[in-house]
Amino acid sequence: MRILLQGAQVFQNNRFQVQDILINQQYIEQMGPHLTAPDAQILAMNNLVIAPGFVDVHVHLREPGFNAKETIKTGTLAGAHGGYTTVAAMPNVQPSIDTPRRLQAQIARNQASAQVHVLQYANITKDRTSEQLVDFAALKAAGAFGFSNDGNGVQSAQTMYQAMLAAKQANLPIMAHIEDDSLANHGVMNAGLRAQELGLPGIEPVAETAQLARDLELAAASGVHYHACHVSTAASVELIRVAKKRGINVSAEVTPHHLLLDESMITTDNPQLKMNPPLRTLQDRQACLAGLLDGTIDMIATDHAPHTVNDKAGSMLTAAFGITGLETSFVMLYERLVKPQLCSLAQLINWLSVKPAQVFNLTAAGQLRVGQVADLVVLNLHQPHTITADSMLSCGQNSPFIGQQVEAEVAATMVAGRWAYRKEQTE
Ligand SMILES: [Zn+2]
Repeated sequence: MRILLQGAQVFQNNRFQVQDILINQQYIEQMGPHLTAPDAQILAMNNLVIAPGFVDVHVHLREPGFNAKETIKTGTLAGAHGGYTTVAAMPNVQPSIDTPRRLQAQIARNQASAQVHVLQYANITKDRTSEQLVDFAALKAAGAFGFSNDGNGVQSAQTMYQAMLAAKQANLPIMAHIEDDSLANHGVMNAGLRAQELGLPGIEPVAETAQLARDLELAAASGVHYHACHVSTAASVELIRVAKKRGINVSAEVTPHHLLLDESMITTDNPQLKMNPPLRTLQDRQACLAGLLDGTIDMIATDHAPHTVNDKAGSMLTAAFGITGLETSFVMLYERLVKPQLCSLAQLINWLSVKPAQVFNLTAAGQLRVGQVADLVVLNLHQPHTITADSMLSCGQNSPFIGQQVEAEVAATMVAGRWAYRKEQTE
């Protein structure tokens, strides 16, 4: 059956225009004003916005190995609830994805359970922590989307350089979790005054920036597409700004929490604010936004990191790192960045959808066009509500944004012509 979406403000070619969209099976068949299709199901979308579905290049779906935290099904349902139609899954499941056989099995699991498109990363090294490189060519042939040891930095420069040369040969990106263990000090929050006041060990900003400086030189020498995950410091933003000017093939992401929160908000020992990299200073946070605004940082990625209640209980000293992000990113970013006019809605959609699709050559994503797979999000910008744990489809309810009042919501998400999420119509 065909579906006719009528009268929404449609985001296309970087502007909003009232248009209808006719969906036939998986595809967008027609776009334009006042379409007619007698046999189609007609859905009135006046006062709603339709944008290309969001693309998150950094999520943790936890299956297999940590199914109590999340599964491929619940993680991708959470993605759909947040407006995402494509997510790229990190390989730090158990066992981690370091052989073609494991990758093929993982891709089969994704296909069997996922509610949105899932792209799958493979490790950079065996077990993610050893210095033994994976077989980059074989993993590419098996369907890897890129390579990452996310959760840990690659400690040896020699290992990282060889990995970059191999990834370059395979024409796939290195997605770098940037952290020098020798400078991270087993910290649980940003090193600084606040950590001292709370008596908690701090992670030095140089744990990120020193390794990033190293990696940018290695990226320049190898020519690989190097992607900096979850950039968190002002110095990192500046390093990437300079690297781009030098013509180094680098892209970068920032998380919603590093844009919206900083260490000054950690007033007690609160595991819901424990993540890696940690919340930094207000100045770092402002530099991350400035980096997005001037194009130094290309996109927003959530680093969706679901955990059980137990994993996040107690003290920051022992609780797990990470917070969920898929279901809160758009609504919180709209609330805190678009409404106060720190950026426009068009910019936000670019960072959540258009740019990640462009940077990673996802030609089927990031745009609305006739003939394209119908991956789209329907946004209601005027539906005030409170973010609650109950509303979350993720198994993880470890979000510091629970309880926040927001005005926008994701009304529906369509993946390849079918509704992956649709708010129940109550009126
Ligand atoms: Zn990471």
